[in-house]
Amino acid sequence: MFAAAVAAERGVPCVLIERKARLGSKVLMTANGRCNFTKDITPEQFLRDIVCGGLNTYAADFAADAVRACPPRRIMHGFQSLGVRLKRMPDGRMFPADGKAATIVHAFGDLLRDEGVPIITNCAVTGVHCAGRGFRVETANFALAAECVLIATGGVSYPKTGSVGDGQSFAKRLGHTIVPYRPGLIGIETTEPSVVRLAGRRFDDGHARVLTEHGETVFAHTGEVDCEKFGLSGAAVYNAQRFIEHYRRVNGGNERLSVDVSFGGMRVRCDNPMSRPLKEAIVTLGGVDTHEIDAHTMQSRRVPGLYFAGEVMDIDGPTGGYNLTLAFATARAAVADLS
Ligand SMILES: Cc1cc2nc3c(=O)[nH]c(=O)nc-3n(C[C@H](O)[C@H](O)[C@H](O)COP(=O)(O)OP(=O)(O)OC[C@H]3O[C@@H](n4cnc5c(N)ncnc54)[C@H](O)[C@@H]3O)c2cc1C
Repeated sequence: MFAAAVAAERGVPCVLIERKARLGSKVLMTANGRCNFTKDITPEQFLRDIVCGGLNTYAADFAADAVRACPPRRIMHGFQSLGVRLKRMPDGRMFPADGKAATIVHAFGDLLRDEGVPIITNCAVTGVHCAGRGFRVETANFALAAECVLIATGGVSYPKTGSVGDGQSFAKRLGHTIVPYRPGLIGIETTEPSVVRLAGRRFDDGHARVLTEHGETVFAHTGEVDCEKFGLSGAAVYNAQRFIEHYRRVNGGNERLSVDVSFGGMRVRCDNPMSRPLKEAIVTLGGVDTHEIDAHTMQSRRVPGLYFAGEVMDIDGPTGGYNLTLAFATARAAVADLS
């Protein structure tokens, strides 16, 4: 949606094809339907925040040009210019003022309608193939010839929103490497009786620390902690879980890490914690390998004319509006290269 909006603004002709019957199914779910679409911080702070204790440095380097060219302030002004009133939380997280993610999706929908961008909904792309100097984009009912293709099909979590991994399959068939998927920003399981007893309670004073088996604290985050029937969730736990997944990727899965979570005057320790399943994750870690994509243009290094944006790539950020910002910024970088 963001890519099509930028294309319309720049006079780049495009067709938006969406698997679901409506646009933005996942965006509608974000932040419990409120859509924390960015964070009001500088691009440099944004990039520092996504490195995940130094474990995700490559993703931050990869996204740097795109985020600098499309920083949070630019995204905020973009929505304001579409008539969306904004609400800023004390920590900089930005929401539509009416607390409705639908306002963001409607803003895109209205812009695309006004600009006359063709949108084909309820239509899954089934294949993207090189054809002559361009591409053949196939669906179950028709095929389109395209000079360039931007794959922005998302990760693989919450598949009911339409993100089922098609874009990664198309990329793989076109010669790209797919970094294995792992769940990011998701709860951790524990059978600790005090947590299970408090299932459904939310604590704003939470703190989560990740410790090595030698007791060294390697990550800490202060924020919300929620008790669930399966264990713990909430921003502090999600960010600790994301750190653990990146740590295991970089250091191998042999070292046993622990998470020490405190909230509401209680303290719970989970040794070698299990993440909830990928299909429930806020973000998919892994995806199209960014080493095979030009960081300035989001163009494939393997297939000229093929572009990527958003979660389909192996990029991710913490909670707080970082993942939508990454999707917007990379979409803009791709379209800027086409205009
Ligand atoms: C519960 C939840 C809460 C979240 N909250 C936040 C938040 O508050 N802030 C934040 O920054 N991030 C949040 N995220 C993460 C954020 O929503 C995603 O990172 C972001 O939506 C990724 O954008 P995307 O455009 O790459 O993919 P998506 O938003 O997943 O969009 C991909 C689109 O491609 C379509 N598609 C897929 N395959 C095909 C195909 N073959 N043919 C045609 N169309 C196809 C899908 O139907 C989908 O509409 C949340 C995620 C979840 C699950």
